[in-house]
Amino acid sequence: MTPASSRDDLHRFANRPIAVLFSGGDAPGMNAFLRAITRFGLNLYNVPVLGVLNGYRGLVSAAAQADADLEGLKALTEKWTGRWGLVNDRKPQHLVFMDHPSVSGIVGDGGIILGSARCLEFKKPEVRAKVIEVLGKLGVRALIVVGGDGSLAGAKCLSEESNLRIVGVPATIDNDLEFSEMAIGVDTAVSTLVWAVDHFKDTARSHRRVMVLETMGAKSGELARLAAIASGAEVVIVPNEGEPLTEQGMQILAASIEVGFDAGRSHTIVLIAEGVTFEPEVMGHDTHSKRNRAYVLADAFKDYFTRPGGRYADLEIRPSVLGHLQRGGHTSPQDCILSARFAEAAIHEAMKEDGRNGVTALVNGEIEIVPFGAPPLERTAKRVRDYLRLHRALSSWTPVGNE
Ligand code: ADP
Repeated sequence: MTPASSRDDLHRFANRPIAVLFSGGDAPGMNAFLRAITRFGLNLYNVPVLGVLNGYRGLVSAAAQADADLEGLKALTEKWTGRWGLVNDRKPQHLVFMDHPSVSGIVGDGGIILGSARCLEFKKPEVRAKVIEVLGKLGVRALIVVGGDGSLAGAKCLSEESNLRIVGVPATIDNDLEFSEMAIGVDTAVSTLVWAVDHFKDTARSHRRVMVLETMGAKSGELARLAAIASGAEVVIVPNEGEPLTEQGMQILAASIEVGFDAGRSHTIVLIAEGVTFEPEVMGHDTHSKRNRAYVLADAFKDYFTRPGGRYADLEIRPSVLGHLQRGGHTSPQDCILSARFAEAAIHEAMKEDGRNGVTALVNGEIEIVPFGAPPLERTAKRVRDYLRLHRALSSWTPVGNE
């Protein structure tokens, strides 16, 4: 829309907006959530929706601006709204009132048009106190924080330190928020991994290769586990309750790959999650502790296959780190739907007279609001075991026994 012109448009702060921010690692589905929360805010409650640019960093910057000139900040934000606010480079703008055109056509886009960021400063209580003060002065009635475990830890602090209504929303491709069966972004990232594995499979088959692919997923192995089941990757290595992977462990894995080739396999795809650690001996002289896991593992496999008397000394072992491509791409329908469901629950909780602070969660297929810091769902551990058992039985060409 054009800069606000009618007098009614100049009272968004007076109408006590709902603020929304996206923080930490981006996840596909964040735009779908922004569109949904904007539409629900405007269509169901006629409440202004205030987008915060660049996560907590935007809030901290807005607080500094307000400290210097609160009325100036309000006037600027009331004047440049929607798409105009998002591209306002005349003045640094950290808060933008969202309107229908500004969220039109973005439902399936990866990334987040408001920007996401990390903000170390926000971990300081005195910085958060400034933010809380400014949100109060601006008349913000609720803040919705969309992000991963770090972002929700920040939201929990705000919830404990203020009287503001704070609603968190899980969005992380890692799916490591164990109070919810699913987070926004996981389904798309798994699809992207399946797509990537398919491409690696073509070349692996043609050249009798072992492809060692490193996935994201922070300390959790969920993304790798799901992708292995969905893509047919033969081997999946995930963090094992903090136990590092040993030289011997890697040799056992290599031996299992050898058995597969003996049985007639043409190739092997190995997924290793970024959260896997190695015992110090494995790193040898390599003191660069950030060396990618895929490369460490591929080297160990090479050593195994080229041992004296090894039957597959000519086997090609190729490591690859899939990296940030896992975050991008068109958002899956499932993630768009989950975003809409979380947004609906978040707006209702934010607007309810007797609403509670907490986080949206998928529990037994239903959307609930659970308290900040809620414990893992009981079934999470079982689900992890189920997936590993499923994968083990699916991927072997030799009997593995019925556990
Ligand atoms: P994610 O939300 O994807 O897990 P991070 O862990 O990087 O990403 O956290 C994103 C941001 O959340 C941090 O840059 C910081 O601003 C805020 N944050 C993280 N942990 C805390 C904490 N313990 N207390 C307050 N704020 C935090």
